[in-house]
Amino acid sequence: MSDKVYDVIIVGGGPAGLSAALVLGRCRRSVLICDSGQSRNAWSVSLNGYLTREGIHPKEFLAIGRRELEPYGVEWKHTEIVSSVCRGDGLFEIATIEGESLTSKKLILATGLQDYWPEMPGARAFYGTSIHHCPYCDGWESRDKPLVAYGLGRVAVGLSMSLKTWSPDVTLCTDGTNRLTREDREKLERNGIKVRTEKITRAKGTESQLEHLVFNGGEELPCQAMFFSMASVQRSDLPQQLNCEFTAKGVVKSDNKQRTHVSGLYMAGDADRDAQQVIIAAAEGTKAAISINQELQNESYK
Ligand SMILES: Cc1cc2nc3c(=O)[nH]c(=O)nc-3n(C[C@H](O)[C@H](O)[C@H](O)COP(=O)(O)OP(=O)(O)OC[C@H]3O[C@@H](n4cnc5c(N)ncnc54)[C@H](O)[C@@H]3O)c2cc1C
Repeated sequence: MSDKVYDVIIVGGGPAGLSAALVLGRCRRSVLICDSGQSRNAWSVSLNGYLTREGIHPKEFLAIGRRELEPYGVEWKHTEIVSSVCRGDGLFEIATIEGESLTSKKLILATGLQDYWPEMPGARAFYGTSIHHCPYCDGWESRDKPLVAYGLGRVAVGLSMSLKTWSPDVTLCTDGTNRLTREDREKLERNGIKVRTEKITRAKGTESQLEHLVFNGGEELPCQAMFFSMASVQRSDLPQQLNCEFTAKGVVKSDNKQRTHVSGLYMAGDADRDAQQVIIAAAEGTKAAISINQELQNESYK
């Protein structure tokens, strides 16, 4: 075990963690980022909606973020953190998967979420290129094309309505489930949304471009992009280990300064609250960093 006590350890080197590290590094804090390299948008080929970086490859965005930390002495460890405790003396002790123990005064969890993706045969080739989870991220590129909103039961009714912002041609597919209410069906019909409840047996297309969904029985539905509504879960169980409180949506509760109810423990990015966009994750990282710096300043005053 190293004797070094970092001012701040950040678990997660995505947009939230990098942004927190940039501000804390500029505040001359000793900072270590631990990251296992599994960003949420790793399937994607372009990051949209981030002012000044429109359309950049997500890997390039992260590489720029890491480069920008270089002048500030921020340390980086490529590892997975498997355990974390808040000790009696108020310090945080975390352990890497390799068994190394690391200590800090404050801890930021910027560990993100992971998504369940539709798993019909053939779908994987289109993940992140023509199968998407967020119309704000990829709706523009799919404008005016035949679109599918995918979700079991009733979960994608709202998504299908939302997709009308980007295309007049929207079909709701419930993949072998039939739990739409009469009100749902009437609303969908009023808004020109087609409904298919049959089981989907295959996603078909050319290279990374989805072109058809094939239903049980063989009929093919033309479709240039599919958006899905499925669960996402915490990427890491560290918030649970540290007894964080969760919202009903499974994200960690934090206040408007990114503080959890555990003293010295901060959250940033998709793992807490609910707006899940890169620019918001980065902003939350900045907020957490400023709160922590102020807390460290207050603790140092005599
Ligand atoms: C397919 C797809 C496309 C998207 N496109 C866009 C887009 O165009 N525009 C946009 O604004 N948003 C987009 N998003 C949303 C965006 O990906 C997230 O809002 C953003 O990545 C959140 O940043 P984050 O830092 O909170 O988490 P992440 O980017 O997920 O980073 C979390 C990091 O923490 C690490 N980590 C987790 N647990 C541990 C652990 N125990 N030990 C060490 N490291 C750990 C992970 O390896 C990961 O590197 C997209 C999402 C998906 C799924």
